[in-house]
Amino acid sequence: MDGILSGKTIVVMGVANQRSIAWGCTEALIAQGAQVILTYQNDRLKQSLQRFVAPDVPLIACDVADDDNVERAFASIKQQYGAIDGIIHAIAYADKATLEGDFVNTTKAGYDLAQNISAYSLIAVARAARPMLKPGASLVTLTYFGSERAVPNYNMMGVAKAALEANVRYLARDLGPQQVRVNAISAGAVKTLAVTGIHEHQQLLKLSRSMTVDGEPVKTREIGNVAAFLLSNLSTGMTGDVVYVDKGVHLS
Ligand code: NAD
Repeated sequence: MDGILSGKTIVVMGVANQRSIAWGCTEALIAQGAQVILTYQNDRLKQSLQRFVAPDVPLIACDVADDDNVERAFASIKQQYGAIDGIIHAIAYADKATLEGDFVNTTKAGYDLAQNISAYSLIAVARAARPMLKPGASLVTLTYFGSERAVPNYNMMGVAKAALEANVRYLARDLGPQQVRVNAISAGAVKTLAVTGIHEHQQLLKLSRSMTVDGEPVKTREIGNVAAFLLSNLSTGMTGDVVYVDKGVHLS
């Protein structure tokens, strides 16, 4: 199918189920003509993907908790499918104990875990993929407004997202000479598996919804459409940016 991503091969990391933001992105990329390759965290999630992903979409294992896994995954993608045109990094994790109550109680282990999986992994992915990124390639990650404001209970993930956004700027500078761009989407709150790990997430979702300009939450497909734009040649002038796709929540 013809679209703004025709002829491009994009790796999407972070589809857990059909509610995942990464799945909204996958559908948008396919609608714009991209070939997609999905990575999954573990065998349980692979089985989940096999229930709804078309059989011709490649599925590659990649638990980002370990750099060797990331290296192996991208080496395997390179060997099987050659160079790529972009990556969506839609991965985050934090211990539940760091997503409730007083932030001052965050432990070192909890801090390290959230930073490793949710922020550092973007660096590991960019490094592993660097040799196979075509000129004009684009990396997109997912962040949230809690990086800028002290959102109740978002706690440790807010700090990890602040680091992730800084990673975007430094990676954009490093990869720019190779004609590779790096941007983040700051998405509005969506009820996904990841969100349910946040204490009183229903309140967070309700509050967020009440702050959108039309009282409706942003849809994963709407986030995906902006990801498609950021992965396309229409956005070659943008790098190191954080783009809001939250239906105006950040305006309040
Ligand atoms: P989700 O639970 O559907 O996706 C999170 C993904 O992270 C899962 O696929 C999970 O397998 C993956 N993951 C976690 N640990 C991993 C590991 N060690 N190795 C590989 N993968 C791992 O939830 P989502 O909300 O779609 O999250 C996607 C991204 O969007 C995250 O970065 C999240 O912080 C961000 N985001 C979410 C919202 C929201 O309201 N849902 C808002 C803004 C940003």
